[in-house]
Amino acid sequence: MTPNPYLDEDLVALADSARRFAEARVKPDFQARDTTRVLDRALLREMGELGFICPELPEAFGGLGLGTLAAGVIHEEIARADLSFSYLNLLASLNAQILSRYGQPEVVAPWLKKMVRGEAICCIALTEPRGGSDAGNLRLRVERDGDHYVLNGEKTSISAADQADIAVVFGRTGTAESKAHGVTAMLVPMDAPGVSTSRFDCHGQRAIGRGSIFFENVRVPVSHRLGEENKGFVQVMHGFDFSRALIGLQVLAVARVALEETWAYITQREAFGQPLSAFQGVTHPLAQFDTEVEGARLLCLQALWLKDQGQPHSAEAAMAKWWGPKLAYDAIHQCLLCFGHGGYDRGPMEQRLRDVLGFQIGDGTAQIMKTIIARTRAGRQFVPA
Ligand SMILES: Cc1cc2nc3c(=O)[nH]c(=O)nc-3n(C[C@H](O)[C@H](O)[C@H](O)COP(=O)(O)OP(=O)(O)OC[C@H]3O[C@@H](n4cnc5c(N)ncnc54)[C@H](O)[C@@H]3O)c2cc1C
Repeated sequence: MTPNPYLDEDLVALADSARRFAEARVKPDFQARDTTRVLDRALLREMGELGFICPELPEAFGGLGLGTLAAGVIHEEIARADLSFSYLNLLASLNAQILSRYGQPEVVAPWLKKMVRGEAICCIALTEPRGGSDAGNLRLRVERDGDHYVLNGEKTSISAADQADIAVVFGRTGTAESKAHGVTAMLVPMDAPGVSTSRFDCHGQRAIGRGSIFFENVRVPVSHRLGEENKGFVQVMHGFDFSRALIGLQVLAVARVALEETWAYITQREAFGQPLSAFQGVTHPLAQFDTEVEGARLLCLQALWLKDQGQPHSAEAAMAKWWGPKLAYDAIHQCLLCFGHGGYDRGPMEQRLRDVLGFQIGDGTAQIMKTIIARTRAGRQFVPA
């Protein structure tokens, strides 16, 4: 990896070692996992043992206490090999930030240590059948009963729903009118009585998969609440700025490896007695995507750098989240076309295209990201939903 102002020698060395692991251990079964649709727990533990899960988490919770840029370079390297497998890094970083910041230490610490070691998967359950964009308008009921909360309702389109060990669940404790100010976040063990799941047949990211989680009178101790009651949306949601920058880096890393393979291919494949690289109609679109991918990646790193500096970075993270997945999809599409009919066969290129598409929707669509940017720039009061 070429150094740049965001990445010092230590981060480049970390990225190099993550790449060696990803090339040797994650890449070989990239296509097989798309078929079996099962996450390899042994490989997840191996990744954890090497320190590649949540390096940004404080040592007290099992992390390495590094900056979020360390998480960023690892996400890139694992995603290069398999975006769907690198979803595990993403879920761990996003949820660990929420749990470590808002959970009661004696409840969350054992789970965090397991997540860092690759022994537990935590999913995040926000979206409901009614819709995901209007995220503050939740229906899942969370009612207090003594020293427990009782959960009833459905979460849907949840990544790793049927493979997770615990979930961060957002539900309604306030009135329907209280909207975002009546939402509470909970840590819910997935083996709690009354929890059941389903699995969808996804277009891409098939190893991690998505599904619904059903809650039927699920009792969760009050100690498992994350943050204050009714503050789940306003407090806990800030974690998404982190995951948005990470998603940008993940999908752009997939675009980068697609571009690298395509640059190599067009020097070997010939048409009209010349390599394809002799035709500007082939090289110029690639050159343009290469430029944009490089620029978008720097924006993602900037968002993480701002986070590490304790500076506001919501707009940059939202930019990373809408631009990265759209650009990655378009770039990989162009790469696929350069391979002609071969690109259309089942294989790494078409799988990459399917995999990155999910992130144009998951974690918030481009429209919602642009609204966040508009609110940051123009002022929230001038940009209603
Ligand atoms: C691959 C993938 C992984 C996912 N993983 C998870 C997960 O782990 N956990 C989880 O909770 N959810 C997850 N989701 C769900 C995802 O967050 C939601 O799909 C997303 O927030 C959009 O919600 P929706 O699908 O209900 O679309 P809707 O909210 O119904 O929106 C439909 C369309 O209308 C547009 N729209 C809506 N409101 C506006 C507006 N005000 N202005 C302009 N346009 C608007 C949207 O941009 C979208 O194009 C995942 C989804 C995918 C595809």
